[in-house]
Amino acid sequence: MLELATSVQYVRGVGPRLGEILAAKGIHSVDDLLHYLPFRYEDRLNPKGVAELRAGEMATVIAEVRTSGLFRTRSMPLFQLTAGQGRARLKCLWFNAAYLRDRFKPGQLLALYGKVEEDSRSGELQLVQPQFEILDDASEKAQAGAAEKKIAASLEIGRIVPIYEATGKLTSRWFRRIIHTALENLTPDFPEPIPTAVRQRLSLIPPREALQKVHWPEAGESLKDLQTARTPAHVRLIFEELFFVELGLELKRREQKAQTGIAFRLDDHVRNAIKRILPFHPTPAQKRALKEIASDMGSSCPMRRLLQGDVGSGKTIVAFEAAIIAIENGFQVALMAPTEILAQQHYFSARRILENAGYRITLLTGSLERGRKREVRRHISQGNAQLVIGTHALIEQTVEFDKLGLVIVDEQHRFGVLQRFKLMKKSDAHAGTAALSPFSSGQAPGGPGERSSPVIGEPDVLVMTATPIPRTLALTLYGDLDVSVIDEMPPGRTPIVTRRVSDDQAIEVWRFVRKQIAAGHQAYVVYPVIEENEENELKAAIQMHRELREKIFPDLHVGLLHGRMAADEKENVMRDFQAGAVHVLVSTTVIEVGVDVANATVMVIEHAERFGLAQLHQLRGRIGRGAAKSYCVLMTGGKISEDGERRLDAMVRTNDGFQIAELDLELRGPGEFFGTRQAGMPSFRVANLIRDRQLLEAGKREAAAVLAAPNADIPREEVSRALRYMRTRWQKTYGLVEVG
Ligand code: ADP
Ligand code: MG
Repeated sequence: MLELATSVQYVRGVGPRLGEILAAKGIHSVDDLLHYLPFRYEDRLNPKGVAELRAGEMATVIAEVRTSGLFRTRSMPLFQLTAGQGRARLKCLWFNAAYLRDRFKPGQLLALYGKVEEDSRSGELQLVQPQFEILDDASEKAQAGAAEKKIAASLEIGRIVPIYEATGKLTSRWFRRIIHTALENLTPDFPEPIPTAVRQRLSLIPPREALQKVHWPEAGESLKDLQTARTPAHVRLIFEELFFVELGLELKRREQKAQTGIAFRLDDHVRNAIKRILPFHPTPAQKRALKEIASDMGSSCPMRRLLQGDVGSGKTIVAFEAAIIAIENGFQVALMAPTEILAQQHYFSARRILENAGYRITLLTGSLERGRKREVRRHISQGNAQLVIGTHALIEQTVEFDKLGLVIVDEQHRFGVLQRFKLMKKSDAHAGTAALSPFSSGQAPGGPGERSSPVIGEPDVLVMTATPIPRTLALTLYGDLDVSVIDEMPPGRTPIVTRRVSDDQAIEVWRFVRKQIAAGHQAYVVYPVIEENEENELKAAIQMHRELREKIFPDLHVGLLHGRMAADEKENVMRDFQAGAVHVLVSTTVIEVGVDVANATVMVIEHAERFGLAQLHQLRGRIGRGAAKSYCVLMTGGKISEDGERRLDAMVRTNDGFQIAELDLELRGPGEFFGTRQAGMPSFRVANLIRDRQLLEAGKREAAAVLAAPNADIPREEVSRALRYMRTRWQKTYGLVEVG
């Protein structure tokens, strides 16, 4: 019998070698395997007859191979296959598909799935680029016994068939067989971690049954519910996942509320200090955000607040206002940025805005020379530095503060949700035991005599993000945070005009750039450097810089900025650009986040098709920051994928961060969107935060109900069973031991 915790390699047909391939996909245990859900289902119970097909629909057809062959057309090799059902025939086409040449033999049984289209010349119906499975593969037949063949066949036809995402050589059919085997041998003895009352309220089916039916739906199941993940089996599994995430978040939130924070004083003195530094009138949205932050800071519960606002909405000044509250109360502030360039940028703004008012600001970067770094750290640990700016890594790992009152985390798009959990864990870890965390106060190496009072309370935490997730979703997802939203742009902005052009129109683009510069503005030219190809692409960016400098704009100042440059070089270039001494800045995506030069009105993005949507939107957010009209030019070269087209389209169509985010979410899936994959952590196994918004809200509601128990509804042992299960889940998924 297989237990859920059994390693997946012990499922018959897997073994250690394939087990490794699965592990790379995050599938380690039988439990993981069973939560690898089909991404769609095919109705092979009632497959369509060729005669029933209609143009424009998606259809599954089961038919035999009659003839097949590769044709050379003028533009590309075309693979054509004729499938037959009795006397009816259906033509199938694949473009650029030389790889299919020796794939099919006449007489093989095929399942085909794809869009039915009408041939423009003959008017005949055909399937274009269908997905296919060969249902009786001769090579497998030779090996398999008769019984196995029969089982295999019964998994492929005559039922609703689950389709899995293939990975490398592990095909959808392979998953189908392996998952079937795993379910056959699965222990009947199954824990039910969700309290009875909750299950009843949501009409949840038992977990064992849900796993069975999600993979092998019964014949009567609605195909539409299957495709939209709304069958009882789906609902059970999705709710379970979300419920336990929310339970953990809710518990954290309660614990945080119970801790003692710092109640900052908010009197006229502090208010005047804030007023003094403001370079402009804050927007109503900024005022509202500050009010919410100030009220948290004034209370004795530690603040855990998310400040959300699209690129350019003006989060920085709000963060600085919060910093002043802490500093004027005699505390230090840490501002952590995701990249060194952004840390530098914050440092420049902080100096511009805060230094005249007499605040002491320190930048801590990895590139500081050793002795200097030590000095800066001492400066911080003795409490001389009031605002410390650096990258996450630097501040988290190496800095001791004298009296830390506020941590501001600038997350932009770089910092995943789960990573943030970790950070929070770090900063809560020392409640009561001040010695462990880099955030602990009173730990100056200067000597025990200098210790300020041992209990100064938990520092407040403010997280800034430009990821515009819808508010209800943010509230539920960032269940352990309160949320403030800046939902309007500072006044006097003109919307950015976005155009796409093909790169054979480059001459005209450069002419346009030149005109803008003649009018006194500045321009960015961004070049993609995507990690896997870094070396070559970096060369291309450098070469591009040379060409622009020598051939296209010989009379202008053209600067270069990329991630491999030394920090002081970067700093110089940024400063020159900020000062207007550089007209055109050729850059890789290092400028993506936070850089703020209002006089730059043009952004040319080369190979725009290769950037992600959020990234394009972030990049574009670098312009349109002043009153002058700004232009974003998306240059493309070569072939563009369908998703690429949709990204470029969206960019031209809208400047609205929310719309862009929704589409981005749809294109990339929530795992990538929220950065959980970048952070090397598993994303949700079965839930999709957009699709399953309602279940997420139900999960939050029920989690709160469970924590309010025990009561007549939910008895004590069900509460503790749920909490125990939650802890093992969190431990496994997020590597967090501490929850609860
Ligand atoms: P982000 O939210 O992307 O961090 P910033 O804080 O960098 O945005 O602000 C973008 C630009 O708008 C900056 O140049 C900033 O000085 C300016 N700005 C912010 N708030 C206002 C305001 N209320 N009035 C005028 N300009 C503002
Ligand atoms: Mg910013």
